[in-house]
Amino acid sequence: MTDAPQEVYVPSVEQRDEVVVGLGVFSTEKIALSILKDFLKRSEQMDLISAEMTKWEIDIVGQEASSLLMRLANRQCPVCERGAFWLDLKSFNAQCYASGCGAWIEDNIHDEDIIDCGWPPLRFLHQASTVEIAMKKLEEMGARLKAAGQANSMLASQALLNEYDEAGLSDALIGQQLSGDALADVAAEDENVVGQ
Ligand SMILES: [Zn+2]
Repeated sequence: MTDAPQEVYVPSVEQRDEVVVGLGVFSTEKIALSILKDFLKRSEQMDLISAEMTKWEIDIVGQEASSLLMRLANRQCPVCERGAFWLDLKSFNAQCYASGCGAWIEDNIHDEDIIDCGWPPLRFLHQASTVEIAMKKLEEMGARLKAAGQANSMLASQALLNEYDEAGLSDALIGQQLSGDALADVAAEDENVVGQ
């Protein structure tokens, strides 16, 4: 038993009907996190509203044995408008787990006064002074995509496929339709923004 882990990591998700689904018990945080993130891709199908990661120490009685490492809340994505945008309520950052989207917000690693946000399919990157402004930037991106006729099924331009092909992520995009021209228009507009 000497090789048994001294602590374990337990990810779980909560559905809108208040049913909590345990995703297993894992010996490392890294594995537990990848299981949890993989599961968040099913946010919409399972109508998930929150997610947690708890660390438990082995053979300790009572609540002191556990500590909450992460608590995520579900929101509508500012770009694709699907219910797969997850906010980390402990260390502020956010990411959309819907296929083909991946909109994100996080603290700049070098400057704590800067909030970075981005949308990978167009390599959109913006630096904002507040989370609210970052959200607004992503909403504007979503509005422009919508105006360009993409609506909720955007996300799969040739550029996008090229970008993700090497990473082996293109499976997630198969079956999605998108007009490359419309996206190209939006991309051209964004050249002013990137790098600011
Ligand atoms: Zn999204």
